Amino acid sequence: MNLQSRLLAAVSSSQSIATAQRARDLIAQGHDIVSVTIGEPDFPTPPAVIEAAFAAARQGATRYTPVPGTAALRCAIAGKFVSENGMAYDPDGEVFVATGAKQVIYDALTATLNPDDEVVVFAPYWVSYPTIARLCGATPVIVATRAENGFVPTAEELASALTPRTRWVMLNYPNNPTGAVATRAQYEALAQVLEARPDVFVLSDEIYEHIRYDDRPFTSFGSVSEAMRTRTLVVNGVSKAYGMTGWRIGYAGGPRPLIAAMAKLQSHVTGGASAIGQAAALAALGSDPGLLRERAAEYRARRDLVLNRLANCPALEALEPKGAFYVFVRMLDAARTGGKAVDEFLLDHGVAVIAGDGFGAPGWFRISIATSIEELERACARIVAAFGA
Ligand code: PMP
Repeated sequence: MNLQSRLLAAVSSSQSIATAQRARDLIAQGHDIVSVTIGEPDFPTPPAVIEAAFAAARQGATRYTPVPGTAALRCAIAGKFVSENGMAYDPDGEVFVATGAKQVIYDALTATLNPDDEVVVFAPYWVSYPTIARLCGATPVIVATRAENGFVPTAEELASALTPRTRWVMLNYPNNPTGAVATRAQYEALAQVLEARPDVFVLSDEIYEHIRYDDRPFTSFGSVSEAMRTRTLVVNGVSKAYGMTGWRIGYAGGPRPLIAAMAKLQSHVTGGASAIGQAAALAALGSDPGLLRERAAEYRARRDLVLNRLANCPALEALEPKGAFYVFVRMLDAARTGGKAVDEFLLDHGVAVIAGDGFGAPGWFRISIATSIEELERACARIVAAFGA
């Protein structure tokens, strides 16, 4: 008997989660391994947010909430979209809360895709985009972007991927794994191509919005034009910005019919996100933005350290990330791994990374900088030793 459905059997578990778990297991068994795998802030949830969650639970935030999220949280999210992104969404019908950004994305694709629809995914990509599309029976159309362009797709690359069957285009800047951040001009070029395709939705995953390394203002894809706003689902969440991965709260702003479809689905799947988690997210969105700037500065110092250490290694070329908390590294001399997959090879040298293959980028690997400077020093020393200084 085949336990798994045909669709599930055709996909694999999240490679990054599996590699991170393997490293944790090896460390627990006493192996000397430095893990720079996991995409999770090492900063704690702000204490005031934890207190707000306790208070909310005591005051009765222990019941089902409205399916698309509590009214208070949806209002705060709409306020965030206005003040930070210049986009007006009606909290009642154009804002949606789910169990992590991951579930927002799952809800959006599952609510809209039919078998044979196509989802354009730019490589390198976050592993879950093509997988979720496949779970819907749709076809991910993987489009390579180029390191020379900072891994942001050009208008031509987008245009070449669109077919009459295209239903979604997935965007993710700041990007996991490359750290690329798209400029407004780059977005405008993509928007021009999409103007002609009102039947195509854009999912802009902006979960790393607050982790950026230059002072350029951030552009949300939904703010590029009114036409784009009406067909873009802007996805965000509290996981990465506030060190709240375990609270499982993600959110989105988008066109009313799409949000309604997602809520219809969610009413059967989870019924809505955790009430306590939503109270905590509300407190986070109301917290001092200075905290986000402090954390971005800390990530920047770590990024600079990793770039500096890897510059000593002629066999590697690290791409300078403009945002998110990863450094993506190209192997210039793949023979150095002696035929082994890079994650296996580096594990032999005491450091766990995520191989680029799972991101659609063979020949590369990802270092997470969401870990202390000391750990990053050790990781880099081992990587440089493995590839030869
Ligand atoms: N999008 C991207 C690009 C991510 O890297 C992640 C987390 N790894 C998510 C979404 C999911 O975030 P959440 O914890 O809100 O589900």
